[in-house]
Amino acid sequence: MYTYNPASTIADEFINHEEILETLAYADENKNNEALIDSILEKAKLRKGLTHREASVLLACQSEEKNQEIYHLAEQIKKDFYGNRIVMFAPLYLSNYCINGCTYCPYHAKNKHIPRKKLTQDEIRKEVIALQDLGHKRLALEAGEDPKNNPIEYILECIKTIYSIKHKNGAIRRVNVNIAATTVENYRKLKEAGIGTYILFQETYHKESYLELHPTGPKHDYNYHTEAMDRAMEGGIDDVGLGVLFGLDKYRYEFAGLLMHAEHLEARFGVGPHTISVPRLRNADDIDASSFTNGISDDTFAKIVACIRIAVPYTGMIVSTRESQKCRERVLHLGISQISGGSRTSVGGYAEEEPEDESSAQFDVSDTRSLDEVVKWLMDMEYIPSFCTACYREGRTGDRFMSLCKNQQIQNCCHPNALMTLKEYLVDYASPETKAVGDALIEKELVNIPKEKIRNLVVEHLKDIENGTGN
Ligand code: SAM
Repeated sequence: MYTYNPASTIADEFINHEEILETLAYADENKNNEALIDSILEKAKLRKGLTHREASVLLACQSEEKNQEIYHLAEQIKKDFYGNRIVMFAPLYLSNYCINGCTYCPYHAKNKHIPRKKLTQDEIRKEVIALQDLGHKRLALEAGEDPKNNPIEYILECIKTIYSIKHKNGAIRRVNVNIAATTVENYRKLKEAGIGTYILFQETYHKESYLELHPTGPKHDYNYHTEAMDRAMEGGIDDVGLGVLFGLDKYRYEFAGLLMHAEHLEARFGVGPHTISVPRLRNADDIDASSFTNGISDDTFAKIVACIRIAVPYTGMIVSTRESQKCRERVLHLGISQISGGSRTSVGGYAEEEPEDESSAQFDVSDTRSLDEVVKWLMDMEYIPSFCTACYREGRTGDRFMSLCKNQQIQNCCHPNALMTLKEYLVDYASPETKAVGDALIEKELVNIPKEKIRNLVVEHLKDIENGTGN
């Protein structure tokens, strides 16, 4: 008998290997069981989510007709919970110094030829001003793990610098942080520094593979890494972002592990993850993605996104510029709520382009378009690119955000906010072509604000922004 306990504090018990194997066997046995698949879809329609076992059956489902129902439901749930808004952000790489040995990441300690860089506070100022000048309001900070070169004090100083920079109309209003697993005390410090979401990818939930893929350095400790979100929440961080790096191990295993992790946070803290990221392994400096044998096709990737959307309807989902325009277009419909745009994955690179032979990039970007192009592309598809960070500023994060979202209330305040922040973007940063498309979209979207009083207020505010008299 094995010990599977979602509320346990021990990684091996809440991400239990035997439970995952049983789940996969159960999903395999039932992949053509239409009666069961129908009953799971009926439950999913209640929009209260699914267990990892139920969702794994949908992921394994082989009936083309049922798969179409899965995609359709994912699209519908996405619309119900997030409307047509897509939140925009950009990554900012602070340092690529790293003492870990991750075999898939070019920042691994044995890579002696990649230029090692760490931004000074002055360089951060320049990068942030360049990002603000593009129109960004949300950043995801990225750094390797190196207690000497990038200690927590360095990260905290960077966050303070970023929040302090006001330039023209620009300001970064939400700083999310993706740094290595750390202590409760350090998470408390990050919380005090005012971070938004703490993001940490599990990479793989398969412990044996994890140990092989992380042969050296502090990240080798699977349990410490897997229990990081618990410590983050104990340290007072309400919003945590999960993710696996697809391509490292078998995707069905990762999918079940990811949902078990979400169930664990819900069971222990009463609130699930704020976001789930779905990165796929990419080529990078000395990394050849094709030498990893668990790569997944675009079709499988789309199915994973749809099944996550159905299983945890209230959790935001992020896709980065690791994916191509075409692939991003496909998964936006199926459940993605946040995307990056105009990204640089090098340390620095926004203020000044890095020379190619000195690249410090973490991975090759697929979607290389500018933010303006990404914004226009979204609007051409009738999505509203949102630069809104109101939830964060008004303290509507964590369980309060989740309860709003679970009651599908969030779009009532998000929609007007998204339109107004989009208008700010159009006035301050967009090209004339993008502005024209955006103004027409805003006009069209106003009717979707149900309350007349709010609609009138928004119309007034939009005029103020256009005339430069808004605040
Ligand atoms: N050092 C932190 C940690 O250990 O979690 C931050 C990680 S790194 C800056 C951000 C993420 O990039 C990693 O968690 C990993 O999933 C992803 N990554 C690493 N190498 C990659 C590659 N070759 N292709 C795509 N993503 C990669």
